[in-house]
Amino acid sequence: LHPFRAMLSLLRASRLAHSYQLQVGKRGLASAGPGFVNAVGNTPLIYLKTLSEQTGCHILGKAEFQNPGGSVKDRAAIGIIQDAEEKGLIQPGGTVVEGTAGNTGIGLAHVCRSKGYKCVIFMPNTQSQEKIDLLRMLGAEVHPVPAVPYENPHNYNHQARDYAATLHNAIWTDQFDNTANTRAHYLTTGPEIWEQTQGKVDAFVCATGTGGTLAGVGKCLKEKSGGKAQIWLADPPGSVLHAYLSSGGKLVERKGSSITEGIGQGRVTDNLATFINDVDGSLTISDEKSIVMLYQLLDTEGLYLGASTALNVVAAVEVAQKLGKGSTIVTALCDGAYRYQSRLFSKQWLRSKELYDIIPDHLKKYAVL
Ligand code: PMP
Repeated sequence: LHPFRAMLSLLRASRLAHSYQLQVGKRGLASAGPGFVNAVGNTPLIYLKTLSEQTGCHILGKAEFQNPGGSVKDRAAIGIIQDAEEKGLIQPGGTVVEGTAGNTGIGLAHVCRSKGYKCVIFMPNTQSQEKIDLLRMLGAEVHPVPAVPYENPHNYNHQARDYAATLHNAIWTDQFDNTANTRAHYLTTGPEIWEQTQGKVDAFVCATGTGGTLAGVGKCLKEKSGGKAQIWLADPPGSVLHAYLSSGGKLVERKGSSITEGIGQGRVTDNLATFINDVDGSLTISDEKSIVMLYQLLDTEGLYLGASTALNVVAAVEVAQKLGKGSTIVTALCDGAYRYQSRLFSKQWLRSKELYDIIPDHLKKYAVL
């Protein structure tokens, strides 16, 4: 082998080992999963040009929509399953059971196919047919169940837990309170952001569903920056965490709702609890602001992204304004608009939410359905 070629291939191998280690923690190449698992992570960091120019700051989005399952939850799905394998909770041929309305189930279904597990998903029967179809196409067994509140024992999460308990060689992945979710972001998303910004990150801000992304990235960036990087939490309407943080820890009842999916929370999950005392600030972002940003991201950046992402970007702009010119703010671009387009790009649906008229005239042309 030519010495230069040999050096190149060595370099490539060490880069591969490095990136893989980032994806799966400390387990190394010996446990490399096939296909899907290796394709998750190392997503680009996108410079949002127009918003950066408007604010005089650097507004950056971590392109989680580029993961092969289409969302930020691919990382949590891998992290949770690998943790269960390390603890010996699941053996080859076992069954993974989860209660989820969307992205986590899709991530888990992919991981299960790539590792040979059976995947069983319990979801509220209010979810779109597209999501049910997609999960089934990915080989999952889907149980749509009546949509009842968390406090009700028939809630989809509790049904998933109870069903897993009846099976041999099965786990309930418990994304909300299983901190392997946070760990996945601590080991992968956080370090990637630190490297991609070369440590020049003044703040990270995002909304929370389970809280895994915020807590994992937050913990990593706090450690690496010696506490300097600020971590902000953004709530949609109907979520209680902004009120919780600004009242010094009082949990209020959930009131109101949002067009955003996958985010908003009525309690401090175990994932969030690992970090909530270190959160620097919080905000609530209205659906009006989120929907306008969703269209603006398409119009000026060419990015077709979901509503939780739009909310995150609005929050990044607001944090940038608080921190002042020249600051660097990172947020998560959680998933694409494809899973929600029949709603977010439908005039009738937007009107039913009283959101069509508030879209600026030059952006209305995108609401084509
Ligand atoms: N955005 C979308 C579209 C999601 O599906 C989720 C996960 N439910 C989130 C954001 C929030 O991520 P996390 O669970 O890590 O808080």
